[in-house]
Amino acid sequence: MTDDQSIRQAPGIYRRRVGDFVVTAINDGIVPVPAEVMVGMAPDEVKKTLEGRFRPGDPHITIGAYLIEKGGSRTLVDTGARNLMGPTLGKVVDNLAVVGVTPDQIDRIALTHIHADHAGGMLDDDGAAIFPRAEVFLSVDEEKHWLGGEPPTDEVGVSEQVNSYAPQLRKAYGDRWHAIGEEEIIPGMRREALPGHTPGHSGYHLSSGDEELLIWGDITHVPVVQIARPDVGLAFDVDVDLARKTRHRILDRISADRLAIGGMHLEFPGFGHVVRNGSGYEYVPDLWMPDI
Ligand SMILES: [Zn+2]
Repeated sequence: MTDDQSIRQAPGIYRRRVGDFVVTAINDGIVPVPAEVMVGMAPDEVKKTLEGRFRPGDPHITIGAYLIEKGGSRTLVDTGARNLMGPTLGKVVDNLAVVGVTPDQIDRIALTHIHADHAGGMLDDDGAAIFPRAEVFLSVDEEKHWLGGEPPTDEVGVSEQVNSYAPQLRKAYGDRWHAIGEEEIIPGMRREALPGHTPGHSGYHLSSGDEELLIWGDITHVPVVQIARPDVGLAFDVDVDLARKTRHRILDRISADRLAIGGMHLEFPGFGHVVRNGSGYEYVPDLWMPDI
């Protein structure tokens, strides 16, 4: 039976509670990138490190989103890449359907930033809003960087890709588009500035009762490398140095505070903790639990 082509992976969802919130990790897919995109570690060493961690070949970046439910309201943190980054991605809407949620039931979208693997899932091929009712939240700094004047450029072409849809994104969501500071979006869910990967890169901090979760966005892209070696960045970081400083600051804080994390590029299902390990850190994934 193992050569049966009809055998497919089970749907990419996993749920846990954070106090009164139910948080569902929604997988969008996984995509390989060349080892050369890592900054601060030679490609040979990247591959050697990955081989040693049972991830042979080029780095593979897991991509995901999170659905936050509380008292009948639904907030989606990021939306995946849809068809902007190849056929191995674009599963967010299908995986939402597995938990019985359709795009018109999403009340809010909280964006960590507007790179294609996060905001690409918001527009259809005609440039129309996929989430017809959703109010959209992103940081003032993110809006300013991409939409505040001359479109940014970079050496790897990521900015050009964002520039190709950012104005349409802004237009499609119209008066449902909100550029914000670090305030709460809903009671118990607050935006947190984590600048560097992009100028307005954001985390979302959930707090309910005595439970907390920080969805840290793109603090790491290849966690098996970057959590152990936080100095290693990515060519997709708009400001590599600031991203590195923010990564160190957050890893230090969450390991000291024993704060639970989620992240768009943590290996699925994307919930866990970080502990200090020598000069670096170690990721401890959550234990899979049958009941939430
Ligand atoms: Zn990303």
